[in-house]
Amino acid sequence: MTMNAMTDMKPETRQIPHYRPAGNEIALFEMAHANGLPLLLKGPTGCGKTRFVEYMAARLGRRLYTVACHDDLSAADLIGRYLLRGGATEWVDGPLTRAVREGAICYLDEVVEARKDVAVVLHPLTDDRRTLMIDRTGEELKAPPGFMLVASYNPGYQNVLKRMKPSTRQRFLSASFDFPDPATEQAVVAQESGLDLARTAPLIRLAGRIRALSGMDLEEGVSTRLLIYAATLIAGGMGLDDALEAAVIEPLTDDADVRTALRDLVATTW
Ligand code: ADP
Repeated sequence: MTMNAMTDMKPETRQIPHYRPAGNEIALFEMAHANGLPLLLKGPTGCGKTRFVEYMAARLGRRLYTVACHDDLSAADLIGRYLLRGGATEWVDGPLTRAVREGAICYLDEVVEARKDVAVVLHPLTDDRRTLMIDRTGEELKAPPGFMLVASYNPGYQNVLKRMKPSTRQRFLSASFDFPDPATEQAVVAQESGLDLARTAPLIRLAGRIRALSGMDLEEGVSTRLLIYAATLIAGGMGLDDALEAAVIEPLTDDADVRTALRDLVATTW
């Protein structure tokens, strides 16, 4: 991966983003941060994991480096590499190294997607050594107290090759995330989309029905993110059917029969 392609590596500069807690996750994150412990967030896509980390980073006043992991992401992408600049080679830190140097928070989204050599880097960083080894430069960086490693993964994807090994898993405190309860989700959808609270009610009902189906014909239920998209389109004046088609039905499945079943579900919800 070239450095230019790393657009997802964004230090968070916003004000404290909006986040509605579901349980004790804020206290858990604060304790993990205060004690230098890494944290693993498990849960389906679009349920608020990333938003939670952004919120916590802002709340703790820490810079955040987010890396969206993919199957080509290697240890070098996280640590850094020598690059040719104006005829000379120059070492350029990757996002993980920067986070360690600055005492920032590094969030590895969908960490199980990354290449296997990433685990080797994470191990000394996630036990009491809290050390990042940079083989290429011979540096051994001791993480300062503010540094925290957060990772997420989606246990719903049943991929045997992409399971997290116990030896890595057992280095993290872990918390399960799920879609917010209906009242919370409704408030979140209304707040994020600008759609009137009352008009979001059927969307939340529809989500409940679709999620009850998931596992049967759908790989995964509709995410809070998609509900926000749908509500945003509706708030923008798009007709209900068109909005749901683009924001819920099409993103959920490629199967024509399942789409028809979802349209029936829509028809009985409004
Ligand atoms: P994930 O990282 O789990 O895939 P995100 O954090 O990107 O999901 O969440 C998707 C969207 O859902 C966010 O942009 C945010 O608008 C909204 N969201 C989900 N849960 C919450 C919550 N508890 N509080 C505020 N916003 C939320």
